[in-house]
Amino acid sequence: MQDKEPNCPDSIRKNATLAEAEVFELESVLNQCYCALGKHICEISGSRIAEINALVDNLVSAKLKLAELREEVICSGCLTANPASHLFCGKCGRPLDSETNGGTT
Ligand SMILES: [Zn+2]
Repeated sequence: MQDKEPNCPDSIRKNATLAEAEVFELESVLNQCYCALGKHICEISGSRIAEINALVDNLVSAKLKLAELREEVICSGCLTANPASHLFCGKCGRPLDSETNGGTT
């Protein structure tokens, strides 16, 4: 008799949820930056680019972290997370590299 079924560790699911929220937040901030960049495209300064590059770096690392937790593959073309079993990106159709940084033993 089992009162509780063995399940996925809650901590992993929790981390994935946190990472998902982080990605969502960074994406919305990044989108705002893109809008601002479009308005001021003619007067871009180096500082603005550095700010956006930093956000992109944060977003990419957050997405990679999320994908790792979910065992997904990030498309190198559009940064969409795809199930590891997929050969092509579901968003842009680009072939997905199987040679991701996560070690598949
Ligand atoms: Zn893609």
